[in-house]
Amino acid sequence: MFCSEKIDVFLKDKYNHIECKKNQYLSEYTTMKVGGKVEFMLYPTSTAEMIDLLRACEQESIPYFILGKGSNIIVNDEGVELLFINIQKLDHIYLDDNDNTKIIVEAGVSLLELSTFALTHSLTGLEFACGIPGTVGGAVFMNAGAYDGEIKDVLYSSLVFDKKQGEITLNNQEHQFSYRNSAIAQNKSVVLSSVFQLQKVTDDMIKNKMDDYQEKRESKQPLEFPSAGSTFKRPEGHFAGKLIMDAGLQGMKMGGVSISIKHAGFIVNDNNAKAQDVLDLITHIQQVVWEKFEVRLEPEVKFLEKNGEFKIFQ
Ligand SMILES: Cc1cc2nc3c(=O)[nH]c(=O)nc-3n(C[C@H](O)[C@H](O)[C@H](O)COP(=O)(O)OP(=O)(O)OC[C@H]3O[C@@H](n4cnc5c(N)ncnc54)[C@H](O)[C@@H]3O)c2cc1C
Repeated sequence: MFCSEKIDVFLKDKYNHIECKKNQYLSEYTTMKVGGKVEFMLYPTSTAEMIDLLRACEQESIPYFILGKGSNIIVNDEGVELLFINIQKLDHIYLDDNDNTKIIVEAGVSLLELSTFALTHSLTGLEFACGIPGTVGGAVFMNAGAYDGEIKDVLYSSLVFDKKQGEITLNNQEHQFSYRNSAIAQNKSVVLSSVFQLQKVTDDMIKNKMDDYQEKRESKQPLEFPSAGSTFKRPEGHFAGKLIMDAGLQGMKMGGVSISIKHAGFIVNDNNAKAQDVLDLITHIQQVVWEKFEVRLEPEVKFLEKNGEFKIFQ
């Protein structure tokens, strides 16, 4: 049986109570606005429903992909034969009853909503995250960070679905956070919810910091165009954007994408791009930067191939 038929039977048999959108283009679900079709996109609405679904997927070998806000992925133009699980309806957020410096939040909540909730409760620590356009799940997966902070600095624990052990709670250490990486990404686990440990201060201080970071972003980043943020990780001892500029590549166009003239670390979709254009430009930048400076640029964005695996860049 083809994979899509298998998913169809699986959903009809057991999961017709969960909202499912069919034949969705990933260009509408990713911030780069490229990507082909996915046949099934499911919207679980609670952690319990999510656990039940993931367990069944594992038992019946249904391949799945967890989609947050699509702000760090590029999906190939032909699409993918996987069950897409969109976490946007895992959207609960509240203060811990026993400790009002802890926020408990489901994985589909956006970082903007989380940092605004922290501001409302005069809790500091998440200001760095207010301009990162992803979900809590995607941010924990990536150990997202900006300016003076990273997820690892404020995360207390997560409820996670692990492929072997089922649902487990991981403390901060057990996430094995490193630069834009975590055990969640390594083990292909799924974040269901997380607890953030913050500190009480005056709201003014938090608001000023958030405004300051937002102004910096708006002045330095090409937010007026679709993109997936910084294309490359920061190579040790260098800045990716500076290497790209020094290699004379800034402004270069390839198909429908170009290297932003505002920030050379960003590839932007400024002319109805295809995923292949992004891939070609990434490969070209890597080659030129290697030839000129012998520095290997490792993509921070993840490129999802037709077979459902992330592309391994050389
Ligand atoms: C304009 C712009 C600015 C950005 N600035 C920053 C920045 O300053 N710092 C930074 O770190 N990043 C930045 N990013 C990148 C991106 O926003 C972050 O990496 C973000 O954390 C990705 O979250 P997401 O929900 O969009 O994840 P997605 O792109 O949807 O998914 C990314 C990966 O996470 C996995 N994933 C998503 N949810 C879960 C879950 N619940 N459990 C397990 N895996 C999951 C997906 O399967 C996928 O492999 C920026 C992006 C843009 C477009």
